[in-house]
Amino acid sequence: MQTLREAIETARAKGIAIGHFNVSDSNQFNAVVAAGVATTLPVIIGVSEGERKWIGVRNAVALAAAARAEGHQVYLNADHTYSFDGIKEAVDAGFDSVIFDGSHLSMEENSAQTRAAVEYARAVGNGTLVEGEIGRIGTSSKLLDVPPEDMDKNLTTAEEAATFVKETGVDLLAPAVGTMHGRLKSGTEPKIDIGRIKLLREAAGIPLVLHGGSGSSDADLAAAGKAGCVIIHINTDIRIAYRKGIEAALTANADEIAPYKFLAQGTQAVREITEKYLKLFAGQ
Ligand SMILES: [Zn+2]
Repeated sequence: MQTLREAIETARAKGIAIGHFNVSDSNQFNAVVAAGVATTLPVIIGVSEGERKWIGVRNAVALAAAARAEGHQVYLNADHTYSFDGIKEAVDAGFDSVIFDGSHLSMEENSAQTRAAVEYARAVGNGTLVEGEIGRIGTSSKLLDVPPEDMDKNLTTAEEAATFVKETGVDLLAPAVGTMHGRLKSGTEPKIDIGRIKLLREAAGIPLVLHGGSGSSDADLAAAGKAGCVIIHINTDIRIAYRKGIEAALTANADEIAPYKFLAQGTQAVREITEKYLKLFAGQ
């Protein structure tokens, strides 16, 4: 099976993006794997610090190993990690990639801490890729009343991207290009700055990652992939699908107590929305 680095190269050569989907439990995990199998496309499964705490770091690695043993192209990412200990734990456990998120720090401090994460991953030698993050994307995967503060004033510049990559040696870069984490309740779509993605891809010299894909238009997401975002993150929409599916199942049959029955509808909903996004990112 291809390493994540190779899978990214393949996607770049084809001009498509790989879908990254966050999960909190094994049902969602299996649903994302099933979507990858159905579309014959690779999937990256992300677990943030909160999601990792719930599902378990070793459990997540074991689930990915089980899927791979069946021949499925599944990669595991330690999403938004705020401490060196968190990076260390994920690298040691054998994650395919980790994200050190120092975007709330000063550029100097972010660079220094991201550099430490890169050095650690290289020293361990598991091949774990390291992603860095600059600019403001927000930190939530919830339904929001208003956009995060200062969103549009903090889009990443070409100079920031070039300097950050040079100073840290990261493999992947998550810049701020107009998307946000979470989704607005009003349904207002964020506008992705496609021109900026092209500029940053050029300046950074490494593949970009688009965070906060939920809530953007399909056209914007497809264009972002073509412009240089080789990985696109979807979290909030996965959570909404799961919750709504389970709710519908329990509403339809209030006396149901078998978890594998009332959870099935949520799992199916996650699989369907994942397939939709995978096909969109692959230009199908
Ligand atoms: Zn993110």
